Amino acid sequence: MRDSLIPVDPALPIGPALALAREQQGDLVSYVQAGKGWVVHGDDLSKMATMGLPQLPVESVAIPEGSPLSHVERTGLNASADYAKRLSAFFPIYFVAALYELQSLMQKFGSKAYVIGGITRDLMLYNEKRLRVHDVDITVEGDALALADFLMENSRNFQLLEKFPEFGTAKISYKDSLMFDVASTRQEIYPHCGALPVVVNRGVPLVNDIIRRDFTINALAFSVHELGQVLDYSNGIRDIQAREIRVLHPISFFEDPSRILRALKFCARFNFELAEETAQLLEKFLSFGGACYKGGGERIKQELKGLLRVEESETKSRWLRYFLETGCYRLLNMETTFRPSPEVIEAVERIGQFLPGIASTLHQAVDADFAFDVYLCFIFRDFSVEEFQQTAARLGLTRNEREFVEQFRKLQGTVQERFGTLHEYSSPAEIYDLFHGLHRITVVACLLELALAGGNCSKNVLEAFVKYKRKWEKMRLELDGNDLIGLGVPEGKVIGILLDQLLHAKLAGQVPDRMDEVQYIQNQLAAHAERLAEAKAGEGRQQPPEPESKNIAGRQQPPEPESETIKGRQQPPEPEAGADVAR
Ligand code: ATP
Ligand code: MG
Repeated sequence: MRDSLIPVDPALPIGPALALAREQQGDLVSYVQAGKGWVVHGDDLSKMATMGLPQLPVESVAIPEGSPLSHVERTGLNASADYAKRLSAFFPIYFVAALYELQSLMQKFGSKAYVIGGITRDLMLYNEKRLRVHDVDITVEGDALALADFLMENSRNFQLLEKFPEFGTAKISYKDSLMFDVASTRQEIYPHCGALPVVVNRGVPLVNDIIRRDFTINALAFSVHELGQVLDYSNGIRDIQAREIRVLHPISFFEDPSRILRALKFCARFNFELAEETAQLLEKFLSFGGACYKGGGERIKQELKGLLRVEESETKSRWLRYFLETGCYRLLNMETTFRPSPEVIEAVERIGQFLPGIASTLHQAVDADFAFDVYLCFIFRDFSVEEFQQTAARLGLTRNEREFVEQFRKLQGTVQERFGTLHEYSSPAEIYDLFHGLHRITVVACLLELALAGGNCSKNVLEAFVKYKRKWEKMRLELDGNDLIGLGVPEGKVIGILLDQLLHAKLAGQVPDRMDEVQYIQNQLAAHAERLAEAKAGEGRQQPPEPESKNIAGRQQPPEPESETIKGRQQPPEPEAGADVAR
């Protein structure tokens, strides 16, 4: 039977639309826009009202008439597949063993269990490939905590790692090599947009658990009791074949906006597209969601990490462009007025061309944190100070994360100039001064900026940075300020200046051990005394020396031995340094 349609205005708020639907006993409200019919189901209007959003217009959650998201298609088994005879062709042997053992244990336990989520999706997606399996999501039509206890009592191979009674879930391991997350099938409601869901029913039939999931491709269930049967209640198999990411219902993004970042992550990882209505719903959330959602929070941060850690590829670049162009970055802070310029978009899009090369030269794995950190620098590069601070707070950036982003932001406009001074024969001291105090991530972001600008300056800088990390970054003096006072240096600024000079001498290989450092200081003191005496003798022919006022870090300024008393780097670049650079 066809659902009955109630015509409304797209701008009509959900509250009155729901009242109308109830009054007229209709299932769907509908309107026509740009020649196309759009519909919203009464259940979805009702859920939006429950989330406290009756003021949003009907169009905020409307889908095209006849779209695969209509309610009729959300029930019933759409397809299934049978992997029973081919398990060991696709799964590692230890996982197959775990599945067989679980199957017989589940028969005793008396509930149905399924492997759901990533593994089942990947099985269908990479049909030809043997999969690597680490984390397994098991959903049971029963009590997950009781199942965890049962497995412990009835098998030596399963170990209980942790129980989460508040969520009704448990973590168990199998022979110390596989991790299982065990959860009960459940129905949930969202009290507000972006809130944690509240479980209203646990241990429900699988079909009722499906709708709470993120996308059709992640809602496929691999049966444990009928081992190898894949149950598809959401047309996930069709969407995997069509390479499309599709939400399970129209209010999905209002319930959990972090799903938008998950959608981009899967598109970027698998080279999928957003299904048409899912892309429309995403855009509608970005247009209307600001009324109920502030953005940020731990889940958004984690999902952003998930997106940014996807292996670099043209596909990932394309989805990062989408992330910036469509305004998905506003999920970090829905109030931001920042709009990325074409330059920022291009920079973010092209990072992937250079990042793996830079990382491998630095022996740095491009893991989740590293990719996240580097991309953050560029995403926030052109934010205003206030907006960066507000967004960083909302996203819960750590102090460390804020520091390197801030550093990179402050270097804007000077990166070329600063690192352009490096050349093949730059001395260790020059290199040290250039990198000292900069966070590793800041340097990587600068390297990317140089690489994006073209030219081969970035190669020099990368090589210099490798040397700095390997040889000089951790170089420490044997002497400290107290030692200098003990040697007769007067207290005050001059101590810092001398320590700085001593470090430069050490970088230049002039003071390899403690005795050399002592000697160096004694020489400086003697030279200083001599010059004082000369100055006295000359009775004002020369200006008195002012060691404190000059060349504190020795950075960039070339040394001028004649004009100062206590001096750093008196010698021209020493032979060892030159030889080292040439090596
Ligand atoms: P991956 O390969 O990245 O692990 P996954 O699909 O297994 O992909 P997980 O984050 O491990 O992703 O989540 C496991 C399953 O839990 C998902 O497949 C999905 O069914 C469900 N899920 C995860 N996050 C959400 C969410 N925000 N909303 C609804 N369901 C979710
Ligand atoms: Mg997973």
